[in-house]
Amino acid sequence: MLGEAGTSNNNIAVIGAGVIGLAIGLKLQQQGHRVTIFDPNGVGSGCSKGNAGHIATEQVFPLSTPSLIPQLPKMLLSSESPVSIRWQDLPKTVGWMIRFLSNATSSASKASTRAIKTLNEQSVKSWFELLESIGQSALIKMDGSLLTFESKRLFEQYQRTLAELMNQGVNYEIWTQNQIRERLPEISKNVQVGVFFPDTGHTVDPYAICVELSQAFEKLGGRVELKEVDALRKNGGLLADAQRYRFDRVVVAAGVHSKALVKQLTGINVPIQAERGYHLMMDDKCDAFPFPISSADRKFIMTPMRDGLRLAGTVEYADVKSPPNMARAAMLYQQGNAMFQSGLNASKQKETWMGNRPSTSDSLPIIDRICDGKILLAFGHQHLGLTQAAITADLISELIAESLPSVNLAPFTLHRFS
Ligand SMILES: Cc1cc2nc3c(=O)[nH]c(=O)nc-3n(C[C@H](O)[C@H](O)[C@H](O)COP(=O)(O)OP(=O)(O)OC[C@H]3O[C@@H](n4cnc5c(N)ncnc54)[C@H](O)[C@@H]3O)c2cc1C
Repeated sequence: MLGEAGTSNNNIAVIGAGVIGLAIGLKLQQQGHRVTIFDPNGVGSGCSKGNAGHIATEQVFPLSTPSLIPQLPKMLLSSESPVSIRWQDLPKTVGWMIRFLSNATSSASKASTRAIKTLNEQSVKSWFELLESIGQSALIKMDGSLLTFESKRLFEQYQRTLAELMNQGVNYEIWTQNQIRERLPEISKNVQVGVFFPDTGHTVDPYAICVELSQAFEKLGGRVELKEVDALRKNGGLLADAQRYRFDRVVVAAGVHSKALVKQLTGINVPIQAERGYHLMMDDKCDAFPFPISSADRKFIMTPMRDGLRLAGTVEYADVKSPPNMARAAMLYQQGNAMFQSGLNASKQKETWMGNRPSTSDSLPIIDRICDGKILLAFGHQHLGLTQAAITADLISELIAESLPSVNLAPFTLHRFS
């Protein structure tokens, strides 16, 4: 069947109903395009559902940096470590890992930092424009976030990062132990010092963001098709659940799953890895602090959300099809428990969750226009997909309009991997 045949130039398919695909779908529908979003699993069912909700504009550094190399072997070999590898999946992970580590040079790290910064600088403005347009700006609160240190030695080592953050123009304040205890009396006395980032924020519900974007999109006439896209053609044709469709343009925004679609279309093997992360929801200490608190020592984050306190984090390199290891979500309880003076009530644990962060080897997403503008690419946002969703939507709409992009897109091209 040749459905949805497009005769005008504004019939657009978006593959993937995660936060990236939904922000793009809504933006394009608002601009008068006719948009269909394809996703067999429904809205916000992938990585976008259970993330930590942090609008993490301060995170301007790539994941692969020169300082990572000496730490990585120890991290990977400890079962308690916040970073782990699923060893059975090593053959499928090793190629990405080599490319990832090859980016741990000063020059590559500086180039990625410059690029990440250009997206993060505009991310909040883009989010509020999009959320205000649908009356949902209350879903993001710009109350800042705090990075805590229990180890004074670790804080000393962090001084270089602080100097670099200052160079990058990231605003921060140092909070002493007394200042932290005054503002956050429930936090453990083991916390010695903190770094507060005033220009960051959080959402009270990452899944609700997806649902609200989708509802506004459908209200404007956009369509969500619960179908998996199996194949894509350079002319905008696609095959979804054995049905053929033809669009004027197709946007690939399928998170970590975009790799297979792009390989089939272009032959380019994008180095993208599922960096799995977990969350544990607690029905305890829900009002203990007004903003996300992350721990530099324990490498996890706690975010106050509408449905409770979300403990989230850990990195696990694994194949995207491998089963989750929920013991890693359970580990988050011990970490959270140690962060409160009176601990966390174990009986108040709620659901656990795992998501596949779509991480490229240089920590930069692919935001590009290929095949004479018929195919747009918007995936690979690693730990920052929530933060960068709305600015990505702006950039894709600028690429479609063939107007000057508000961010230099040279670092984000597909062809850097060809
Ligand atoms: C524990 C954890 C904490 C995180 N915390 C934060 C945070 O605090 N701040 C932040 O900015 N980011 C955070 N992230 C990262 C963020 O969640 C991701 O970068 C973001 O969700 C990626 O969005 P996406 O739309 O690209 O992918 P996804 O949300 O994974 O969506 C992709 C969608 O594509 C669909 N799909 C796949 N293949 C096909 C196909 N062939 N046809 C049709 N549809 C298809 C899938 O079903 C899925 O719904 C975190 C991630 C994790 C795991």
